[in-house]
Amino acid sequence: MERYDIAVIGTGPAGISAAITAKIRNKNVILFGSSSVSNKVSTAHGILNYPGLPSVSGTELAERLTGHLASLQISVTKAQVSTVYSMGSYFGIQTGSGMFEASAVILACGVAPSQLLSGEEDFLGRGVSYCATCDGQFYRGKEVIVAGYNEEAINDTIYLSELADKVTFLPAGKDRARIADEASEKFKDHSNIMIIADEIPSSISGSLKAEALNTDKNEYRADGIFIIRDAVAPDRLVPGLKTDNRHAAVDRLMRTNIPGLFAAGDMTGAPYQYIKAAGEGNVAAISAVNYLAGI
Ligand SMILES: Cc1cc2nc3c(=O)[nH]c(=O)nc-3n(C[C@H](O)[C@H](O)[C@H](O)COP(=O)(O)OP(=O)(O)OC[C@H]3O[C@@H](n4cnc5c(N)ncnc54)[C@H](O)[C@@H]3O)c2cc1C
Repeated sequence: MERYDIAVIGTGPAGISAAITAKIRNKNVILFGSSSVSNKVSTAHGILNYPGLPSVSGTELAERLTGHLASLQISVTKAQVSTVYSMGSYFGIQTGSGMFEASAVILACGVAPSQLLSGEEDFLGRGVSYCATCDGQFYRGKEVIVAGYNEEAINDTIYLSELADKVTFLPAGKDRARIADEASEKFKDHSNIMIIADEIPSSISGSLKAEALNTDKNEYRADGIFIIRDAVAPDRLVPGLKTDNRHAAVDRLMRTNIPGLFAAGDMTGAPYQYIKAAGEGNVAAISAVNYLAGI
């Protein structure tokens, strides 16, 4: 298996900035993202505080960021990273598309959701999963529910519908109306997917394992429940990672408590700003380069 010098996880300003600096420093980089550019960039109406780009729109900033990646031949590996394992001298990175290895890792996954579904953490690994491609096979011929907070959840639901007998899809989060529209278009040819729009997922319930997802109106029972969001809590992503109030704890060089693991951007804490994220991505990449050089 190819071992990359640096794996960057996240395609917001922090991850893109880290990947650019690492590539300029001649490192073999792999950049993971759930989309080409974070939707926190592409959906912003007008950005007034990005130096050198007064009044830039989110769409335009997204185009400039993807253009910058392309000019350096950095491609985005569109895969959701489910877990990063520290193996001592390198890292194993588990994604829905398989395992990857890197000598250093930069986490740039954005801010983790402040509000989880009630019961979500209690049932994680016991009927609740964050990764359809990792755990979908356990539900062959069964019934599953997907609480989908992003576009990725729509593709994951289609994948699950090829394994499970029945999939119930509940668009969730502040973008749920848009996600519901997109999902109903994409699910047209998938008769075993049912969309429940206009209900807000609130909690997971069960006894030994998760048995039902509850909304503000109803209870939906299934064998497994998938919760698909852009970002998960940092210490769920990396076992053993030290956190501070749900953010990755870092020093000024963006080093975490795990040697070779760095973090940048919103996931290290407020202020949540583009230029702070991009700046920290730059620092994290330089620190990762120094770590690889033994400095
Ligand atoms: C509508 C809106 C307007 C804003 N306007 C401004 C503004 O005008 N000025 C300003 O300074 N800030 C603004 N912000 C804040 C700004 O968007 C954030 O501070 C910034 O995007 C943070 O960048 P980031 O790279 O840390 O994380 P994000 O932009 O959140 O990017 C994280 C990326 O990581 C990906 N990811 C997460 N987990 C995984 C995983 N496990 N595997 C693979 N990929 C993963 C996500 O899909 C996402 O693409 C705005 C935010 C919003 C929502």
